[in-house]
Amino acid sequence: MSRIAYVNGHYCPHNRAAIHIEDRGYQFADAVYEVCGIRGGKMLDEEAHLNRLDWSLGELQIPWPMARRALQVIMREVIRRNHIRHGMIYLQVSRGQARRTHAFSKHMTPSLVITATSTSRPQNAQTLPQAVSVITRPDIRWQRVDIKTVALLPNSLARHAAQEAGAREAWLIDGEGKVTEGSSSNAWIVDQQNRVHTHPINGRILNGTVRQALIRLAQKEGIEIIESPFTPEEAYNAKEAFLTSSNALVQPIDQIDGHKIGNGSQSEVSQQLWRAYYIENQIAP
Ligand code: PMP
Repeated sequence: MSRIAYVNGHYCPHNRAAIHIEDRGYQFADAVYEVCGIRGGKMLDEEAHLNRLDWSLGELQIPWPMARRALQVIMREVIRRNHIRHGMIYLQVSRGQARRTHAFSKHMTPSLVITATSTSRPQNAQTLPQAVSVITRPDIRWQRVDIKTVALLPNSLARHAAQEAGAREAWLIDGEGKVTEGSSSNAWIVDQQNRVHTHPINGRILNGTVRQALIRLAQKEGIEIIESPFTPEEAYNAKEAFLTSSNALVQPIDQIDGHKIGNGSQSEVSQQLWRAYYIENQIAP
């Protein structure tokens, strides 16, 4: 079955989908994106993704490529045409195509690309997946990573370093020696009093959609969340550590920079948060 992409008003075979060489997304990373998880054919946290898209576009003064409702219809159509049950939908909006010059016109027509990918059925979806390891790397990104732009080279290099070290993710360390987030995920630890720590929302992290959901759910579950930066040393001594993203959802971590986290396999708080997320989203196995 061939994959179908949506590009500027057309559904076309994925391997023939193309954008002009003078698209500002290509030349200046002048583009924003969203990746939305799909489980059982349904988009997860759809409204949160569209709200964040609205934030990213607004901060860069890129107009919406079409009405929000129309975009939702096309996203569903891309999922349908690609027969996705479990997977991800990728959406990118660039400022559009123009002769290459740094300054831009206010009157450009944005480019819109939407693709979708299947992943294999998540195993035993009610329990957390197998834990992964993490390394730390310096956070060398710009100061507006709250805008979800496609300028991901520092993230990509950090992730490559993680891969070379046999780890799944790189946690990024800012100039004050604090963990900001992962190369493509938010970072969390659970302290000895079962309090959950994660970096606060400012220009230094992306406000993850799964992050937003877990903070809301933690309140219902009576779990205390402390939105305050933590150090790698605090992470090494944590009872639990995990990461969140639309791709991994809630992923436990058993090793950071070679330090074993907690007593191995216990991840009670992470598990409780995951269950709450799973139930709220009626994730079907
Ligand atoms: N931080 C970064 C840098 C990311 O790329 C992602 C993944 N989009 C996240 C955090 C997590 O965001 P979300 O939960 O919306 O996938």
